[in-house]
Amino acid sequence: MAGNGAKIIAGGTNIVDLMKLNIERPAQLVDINGLKMQSVETLPNGTVRIGALVKNSDLAYHPVIMKNFPVLSEALLSGASPQLRNMATVGGNLLQRTRCPYFYDTAAACNKRVPGSGCSAIEGYNRNNAVLGTSAHCIATHPSDMCVAMAALGAIIPVQGPSGSREIPFGDFHLLPGQTPQYETTLKHNELITSVDIPAIPYATHSHYLKVRDRASYEFALASAAVILNVNNGRIQDARIALGGVGTKPWRSKLAEKVLSGAVANEQTYRTAAEAALSEAKPYKHNGFKIELAKRTLVQALTTVGGMS
Ligand code: SF4
Repeated sequence: MAGNGAKIIAGGTNIVDLMKLNIERPAQLVDINGLKMQSVETLPNGTVRIGALVKNSDLAYHPVIMKNFPVLSEALLSGASPQLRNMATVGGNLLQRTRCPYFYDTAAACNKRVPGSGCSAIEGYNRNNAVLGTSAHCIATHPSDMCVAMAALGAIIPVQGPSGSREIPFGDFHLLPGQTPQYETTLKHNELITSVDIPAIPYATHSHYLKVRDRASYEFALASAAVILNVNNGRIQDARIALGGVGTKPWRSKLAEKVLSGAVANEQTYRTAAEAALSEAKPYKHNGFKIELAKRTLVQALTTVGGMS
């Protein structure tokens, strides 16, 4: 790819907005829409390989995804608007940037936009900000719905760079803000996401994405839950859980999964899992309500998928 100031453009649903607001000022834009990364194929080992340029709407309505991974289809259809989903790509969705209002206000201090300048959200209006994975330098939520489902599914991200290819496990792709919130992923400059691979999970047919937001469409999550359960005779054999709207990255909850695995599928189990999922949450002045909201969202999603024994 071109020099250090170059950026990739695919669907353009985020980078163009950022350029209009003077937040991103790439020296060059490299249009990758001519690359052959638009297909969804099932590999011999059952992994579903989704090309990085597959549009969000095409993926949501793909028959394999609708049948085998409803959590992913539902997450995609809950995001943005039909017009945006028709343009936005899977690779771009992984790289979309936070919607923290101070990030978009160039008059405000923001460590993510201008490292070392401070964080206006910590003492400001932080109703939409995160309660999990925050730091003293940034409390911005990760905005994607698709990524929450991908986190629960344990997707793998193959990337290609000048020194070859490698595969990044989904949980290692997005970074916590720590002291350097300007760095958001482990993707290196000059590396290109070529696909997102979903390993075969037979019980992922029993899955659901539930999103709670201020209005019914074209709105980011206040809290969301991706739930995949394998329930046999009223007992949970295996669980994959991720939360959105509350974390600084798509939030896979191993704590909730541990509670659920081997437990009876009932309300008590679901509530205990939700308590575990939010046990490390840290509220700020305006967003403390998200903790109980996320718990109830998770309990509702678990009830939908696992039923009551
Ligand atoms: Fe910037 Fe992060 Fe603070 Fe928002 S939360 S103002 S993105 S540093």
